[in-house]
Formats: sequence, C-alpha cells, structure tokens
Amino acid sequence: MRSVVVIGAGMAGTATTFRLASAGASVTVVDRDEPGNGTTSKSFAWVNANQKTPRDYFDLNFAGMKEHDRLEDEFGTAPWLHRTGNLDWTGDAVRYDKLCRRVERLQSWGYNAQWLTAQEVNQELEPNIVFSGPTMRIAWFPDESWLDGPEFVRSLLDRAIQLGATVRTGQEVVAVEPAEDGVTVRLRDGQELKADAVVNCAGPGADRIAGMVGRTLPLDPTNGLLMRVEVEPGTLSRIIHGSDVNIRPDGDGHVLIHHESIDPLIRDRTDVPVDDENCRELCRRAKRMLPSVTGKRIVETRVGIRPYPADHVSSIGGVSGIPGYYEVVTHSAVTLGPLLGRLITEEILEDKIDPITQPFRADRFR
Ligand SMILES: Cc1cc2nc3c(=O)[nH]c(=O)nc-3n(C[C@H](O)[C@H](O)[C@H](O)COP(=O)(O)OP(=O)(O)OC[C@H]3O[C@@H](n4cnc5c(N)ncnc54)[C@H](O)[C@@H]3O)c2cc1C
Repeated sequence: MRSVVVIGAGMAGTATTFRLASAGASVTVVDRDEPGNGTTSKSFAWVNANQKTPRDYFDLNFAGMKEHDRLEDEFGTAPWLHRTGNLDWTGDAVRYDKLCRRVERLQSWGYNAQWLTAQEVNQELEPNIVFSGPTMRIAWFPDESWLDGPEFVRSLLDRAIQLGATVRTGQEVVAVEPAEDGVTVRLRDGQELKADAVVNCAGPGADRIAGMVGRTLPLDPTNGLLMRVEVEPGTLSRIIHGSDVNIRPDGDGHVLIHHESIDPLIRDRTDVPVDDENCRELCRRAKRMLPSVTGKRIVETRVGIRPYPADHVSSIGGVSGIPGYYEVVTHSAVTLGPLLGRLITEEILEDKIDPITQPFRADRFR
C-alpha cells in the first residue's frame, strides 16, 4: 500500500483524497482551514465545458463533466450536483454573433447545445425572466449543472474517512521535503508526516507549496465577487447567463449573482460589504433580467480567488527531478476536480499518465 499526503481539502484535494482512499492508498489530507472553505465555497460552481478553448482544454472539461456522472453512479446519488441546464442570451449584435459561433462550434464538438425562443423559455422553463421580445433566440445547454461545493466536500470526505483516510484540519503545511525514499511534510505545530508521495491541491496557495520543493509554479490569481440574495422560492430554477449578469439558484429561496465585468473592480479585496457600489450594480443588472429580485435582501457576499496557473489552464501531474511530488492546480476545479482526482490517483499508484493531461502537465513550468 502506498501512503500519500494531500495538501488542501477543496474540490481538487477532496476528490483526490476520495479516489486515493478508494484505490487502497493510505491517505492523509491536510488543510490549514476547514475543508471546502477556500475558493470551493466561493465559486459560481457551474459544471460546464461551454467556453473552454482550445480544443484540448475543451476535451478535458467535457471529460470533467462526464466524470460527475460516473461519481453519481458510484454514490447512487449526488445531492451536491444540480442538473438544471443553462440558458445564455444577449441583446447585443456583436455578442450574439459570438454566441451563434460558440453554439455552432460546441455542436460540432458533440456538446448538447440547442436554441429556444424567449417565448418557449418563458412558457416551458423560466416564467420570471424578462426578454426583449418573444422571438429572441436563447441558447440552451441542458447538460450543464451547478454544484454545491461544501456539500461535495463533506460527502466525499465522509466516504474517504470510511475508507480509512485521515483528515487533519486547522493544520498549515510549512515545509515539504521530497527525497528518493519518500516525502516529509512539516506542519506549523511541528508535527511531521512521512509519505511516499504528496499532492499539491492548495488552490491559490499552491505556488507557496511549490516553492517549498524548490519549484516555481507561476499563478495569476484573480478575485471574483459573488452575491447571495434571498428570493421567493421558485423564482429561478436554472443557471442563466445574460449580457451583463449571471445568476443561478443557490439552494431553496436563494440565488447567486456574478458577472466577470465586476471582478476587476474589486481588485484584490477579499471582503466586500453588501452595501458596496459593486453589489448595487449587480442588483441593478439582475433586476432588469429577473424583476423578482427587486427589493430582495442580499444575504452575503463571497469573494473567491481563482487559482489560475499563469497560462490559465491546469497544472497536473508529477514533476521531473522532484520525486514523489504531484500537482492538481487549476481554475474550473468544480468541473475538473473529480476527473483530475481519478487521473492523479492512477498516475501516483499505477504510473499511468492519461494522454488527455498531456498539454497540461505540471512539468511545463520550470
Ligand atoms: C468567482 C469565481 C467563480 C468561479 N466559477 C467557476 C465555475 O463556474 N465553474 C468552475 O468549474 N470553476 C469555477 N471557479 C473556479 C473554482 O471554484 C476553483 O477552481 C476551485 O474551487 C478550486 O478548488 P481547489 O480545491 O483547487 O482550491 P481551494 O478550494 O481554494 O482549496 C485549497 C485548499 O488548500 C488549503 N491550503 C492552502 N495552502 C495551504 C497550506 N500551506 N497548508 C494547508 N492547507 C492549505 C486552503 O485552506 C484550501 O482549503 C470559480 C472561481 C471563482 C473565484
């Protein structure tokens, strides 16, 4: 049996821990916080391959979506996964042209992308959305979902613990020392963990962990603002992407609101109060599209940090010259976590490298 320490218990680390434990490894996951409290609980959490290019990155994300089905089959149920589908539209001519091209490209790549009219959407799917006219064309992606990150983390860690995994929370990793005969992971309180391998799943903290093994993992983190609003139950059932705001359900009687055009305005702030001008702007945009949001209470804001490697795709796998050290660091880990957790497990335990990871090998960063 091989022993592995996983650093970080978000989407990436939890999925990795679960898969390693399922495969019979002796696994310990360490997190300086509570599991899931990193970016994983501050994400729009849309499971998709919709806007992923180039083709090889699309393929990775599409496989990521399918891995969620596999996980659900294995568990028999996936209460963390909300298979709602996603609606996308715009009133702007240039953006509409881009949307048409995207739908065409996705269809040609075997992705489920369809067109509906606004009238069909209002009559059959979402009665509360206001469109500019009944004949407006709305792109519909039925196979996309949103995911409850904290629920995913709880469920997979519970199962991993049943399989023998150890979860150590509130323990910061301060040193990682790889050697030919195994890796030593040192914690802030002085404890040391010895294992055959270590997996860096530290999200936005992954560059610091990489630095501990003498490696540079360049990250380009960006902050994103999410706003949780209390609404009447039944206000919205699906993920929606309008021209200037994105909204999805977030549990009974709540929606989560986000738009990437607001994110640069908060810069590196990690705490944005509910009465901040950026929240008011998101509310104004949401109300135009979904008037039922008018006057509703903002329950909380969340700021997440996207753990983008510098070239904005994933960093996966072992690194030459650093024995026993592996990385699973990526944006879109909500989509990719279960897939990458399985692939890194196969790499560590069976020396098997799936060709789908080839363009995204951690080894490209030196
Ligand atoms: C606004 C926003 C919207 C997003 N939307 C989507 C989306 O729609 N779809 C999608 O797929 N993805 C989306 N993402 C990205 C996705 O949320 C992230 O890729 C994912 O949550 C990262 O998971 P992770 O496990 O890698 O990192 P995290 O969840 O951050 O977990 C890393 C863990 O490592 C721990 N850690 C760090 N350093 C140490 C240390 N030294 N010692 C011990 N523990 C440590 C942290 O405490 C943390 O718990 C979005 C992100 C943001 C911010």
